[in-house]
Amino acid sequence: MASNTANPANHLPYFFGNITREDAEEYLMQGGASDGLYLLRQSRNYLGGFALSLAHGRKVHHYTIERELSGSYAIAGGKSHASPAELVKYHSEEADGLICLLRKPFNRPPGIEPKTGPFEDLKENLIREYVKQTWNLQGHALEQAIISQKPQLEKLIATTAHEKMPWFHGRISREESEHRILVGSRNNGKFLIRERDRNGSYALCLLNDGKVLHYRIDRDKTGKLSIPDGKRFDTLWQLVEHYSYKPDGLLRVLTTPCPQLGSENDNFGFNAHPSPSGTLPKLQSTIGHSLEEAPFNPYVLQRKRGSTEEERGDQREALPMDTEVYESPYADPDEIKPKNVTLDRKLLTLEEGELGSGNFGTVKKGLYRMKKGAKPVAVKILKNESNDPAIKDELLREANVMQQLDNPYIVRMIGICEAEAWMLVMEMAELGPLNRFLQKNRHVTEKNITELVHQVSMGMKYLEENNFVHRDLAARNVLLVTQHYAKISDFGLSKALSADENYYKAQSHGKWPVKWYAPECMNFYKFSSKSDVWSFGVLMWEAFSYGQKPYKGMKGGEVAQMIERGERMERPEVCPTEVYSLMKLCWTYNVDDRPGFVAVELRLRNYYYDISH
Ligand code: AMP
Repeated sequence: MASNTANPANHLPYFFGNITREDAEEYLMQGGASDGLYLLRQSRNYLGGFALSLAHGRKVHHYTIERELSGSYAIAGGKSHASPAELVKYHSEEADGLICLLRKPFNRPPGIEPKTGPFEDLKENLIREYVKQTWNLQGHALEQAIISQKPQLEKLIATTAHEKMPWFHGRISREESEHRILVGSRNNGKFLIRERDRNGSYALCLLNDGKVLHYRIDRDKTGKLSIPDGKRFDTLWQLVEHYSYKPDGLLRVLTTPCPQLGSENDNFGFNAHPSPSGTLPKLQSTIGHSLEEAPFNPYVLQRKRGSTEEERGDQREALPMDTEVYESPYADPDEIKPKNVTLDRKLLTLEEGELGSGNFGTVKKGLYRMKKGAKPVAVKILKNESNDPAIKDELLREANVMQQLDNPYIVRMIGICEAEAWMLVMEMAELGPLNRFLQKNRHVTEKNITELVHQVSMGMKYLEENNFVHRDLAARNVLLVTQHYAKISDFGLSKALSADENYYKAQSHGKWPVKWYAPECMNFYKFSSKSDVWSFGVLMWEAFSYGQKPYKGMKGGEVAQMIERGERMERPEVCPTEVYSLMKLCWTYNVDDRPGFVAVELRLRNYYYDISH
């Protein structure tokens, strides 16, 4: 899969990627090392950071460019810039602390691409394995988790990747670490890292002429890791990379990771063949196959679904996969799905108070007892006094559609129950409708909204693939499980298309949400995934307007006229231009020219990855 969190310097001809400081010096010397000759490379100690190597007086000077929390770039203590390229441009006009101006870029020789770091190469596999193991997912659920949460997962992996490294032994005592190193081969440079306490302090244990040396690795206030007076790093694996390539204050370089005791194939199978550096590159060659059968570091497995933030010992926000409703309860082989979807009333408890209501009746909170415990559910209860068979039919039709759907971004039906009233039992999405949530929470960021609407597009892509048309896609029908997890709901108007049709033809005009409807719905009563795309455009408009009503103050007929005139709603105040242009694309008049959800989802995905970089 192409990485969309592209390196913001990859396009620069003078960017060399993950090369060492020495490599940079060699390149600049080869290039004549005239004063002001420079190149840019990836920082090997700061995540997302860069280093600038600049020749002056036949010497090469190096400057670290840190990526700041705001997402801008700066040489320590210097001015902030939007990108590494802008920083370079600035310093070609102002020395501002550099030894001289950046005069001439040293460009990569033909055929040389920016060098990717070991982590870049590992990332995709690590993410996949991490998600598989941490949340016990596979197949579609696994792919969807990766797509929707890639930026968050990349960050998690970067800071926890060491847990999967052969040299990381977790929380063992100093004595135990010596014992482990002294067992078996006693090569100089054999090493491991152990955890000293829960505050993020570690020790590097290194074998030198039969003796084990212990170097403390402390975390400073900003979270950076270092050996006392040594270079500072964002992650342990960057530290290990660095000291495997030069001693830089240690008695010697790190060579072979010390195998973990009790692991059959030495270190999760990563360590079967020695490699020159003995650290990361080896992992690269074996990770694809050996991870599956190999036992994992228990530190990762502790992060089980259902464990609380405290138990996990970290403060990260809950991802969709951390919640109870990411997978169907029936994905658990121990929970048997009732054949005819009818549930036993005795297993259902209703709570006081309403989640919502409509002309059909009310939606209440409830608990449904399953094998693995009681599940919070939302129960749509039909008004008993309503003898209108049409309402009951509608509920059963809705249940029939929902029963066929199974996707993390769609509210699932648990079943139906006929007792004191007809009831539709669904997964609970506690935070309620997206429009109301945003009306009340104006602090929600653009990125957060993008994340949510991207999830909706993933759910809609699934519906499109499975030939369902929703017909009532709107912000009020997107329910939130958490601030970072959205699900599509309300399938009351939805239709399953048969194999030979790609649209549904309504017999007559009903009670329709016309402000969300595409022209062909209004003019020809034709409904397709493409008309859902039009509605999705309106939904995005609502979301980026923090839950305002679309076409405010206008009547349905006036909206239709406005669309026919070729006019569209204006860009909401805080809406990024990229998103607005996608909205307008969703509002393409002609169905055949309008994109489908495959294209819409991809556009949103790329944009979301971009702003999350
Ligand atoms: P509906 O008629 O399906 O739009 O439901 C009416 C209202 O009930 C919604 O706007 C929500 O506030 C609430 N509701 C419906 N389904 C759920 C659910 N699965 N979880 C939480 N609240 C729900």
